[in-house]
Amino acid sequence: MKIIISEFIDASAVESLASHFEVHADATLVDRPDALRSLLDDADALIVRNRTQVTPALLDDAPRLIAVGRLGVGLDNIDLAACAQRGVQVFPATGANARAVAEYVIATALMLLRRAYLSSASVAAGEWPRAALSSGRELAGSTMAVIGFGAIGQLVARLARALDMRVVGYDPQQPASAACWSETGAQCVTFEHALRTADVVSVHVPLIDATRNLLDADRLSMLKPHAAVINTSRGGVIDETALAEALRQGRLGGAALDVFADEPLKAASPLAGAPNLILTPHIAGLTVQSNERVSTLVAARVKQALLDHRRHSQQSEKIST
Ligand code: NAD
Repeated sequence: MKIIISEFIDASAVESLASHFEVHADATLVDRPDALRSLLDDADALIVRNRTQVTPALLDDAPRLIAVGRLGVGLDNIDLAACAQRGVQVFPATGANARAVAEYVIATALMLLRRAYLSSASVAAGEWPRAALSSGRELAGSTMAVIGFGAIGQLVARLARALDMRVVGYDPQQPASAACWSETGAQCVTFEHALRTADVVSVHVPLIDATRNLLDADRLSMLKPHAAVINTSRGGVIDETALAEALRQGRLGGAALDVFADEPLKAASPLAGAPNLILTPHIAGLTVQSNERVSTLVAARVKQALLDHRRHSQQSEKIST
């Protein structure tokens, strides 16, 4: 059986698959769609990250496909309905990069509220901007609003509570009676309440129709002027132009964005040069440890699916002979 891997993956996960199957792992395939499609012609499984678009057209070029492994958790690059229609199972790395994302949120929250850690160049130049950098805030006693209280949102809540933050959260799928609130020490509130009370807002929702532009100009205007917004979920969930304007006009204290409506972010983006803004290239979930966990988990799930399929095929052959 043959597995195609079109984006980067931990080497040990490739080795674990290669002892059972023919594996073609080439991280350049995501940028060579024609080569990818021709390799998929007789492939049984495809493993991707977030850049390979698993569309109906791509699936049509992969008639034998049984499984798609996703080295991450967001599934917006995979047409789930088209996979289901063709009997292709999809295996995300649920939970495996949550810690990396949650640590990113805490690190950027500390930086954005304190507003003092980006002073290396001016201190080294002899400027000594002590007065300008003396009015930052502490996380302790501040309020973290978690929008989307799933796997990552709940871990963010735990880490924020460990730093003595107050945590409020909003998630239409998690009623106030759900155990996740009491287990994490967070308070279930309405979306508007979360925005109005937050010193830090961290967004952890999937990108779906209901969450597109979830933080638009109106919602951003509900935030305190010193509040910080952190988005590690998906671009498209926040109106980037409205966010940049709010930062420039001092209606928002800071922001950290790891994901963008259009990736890579274009140099002419309205975000360029906005104050107290941390921009990172979709790496919140990527660490040495999370890459190992994600790759190992997805490889194991795809391997199991192929072995199960092989066993069922052999059993059906036996019955029919
Ligand atoms: P999850 O499915 O465990 O949780 C998502 C939660 O969002 C669910 O509880 C759901 O009920 C909630 N939700 C849905 N619609 C909502 C709405 N309108 N308002 C508020 N909540 C809503 O997912 P997760 O594993 O916690 O991941 C969250 C997001 O983080 C995903 O979009 C994923 O793609 C993204 N992510 C990014 C990175 C990165 O590197 N930047 C890494 C991992 C995950």
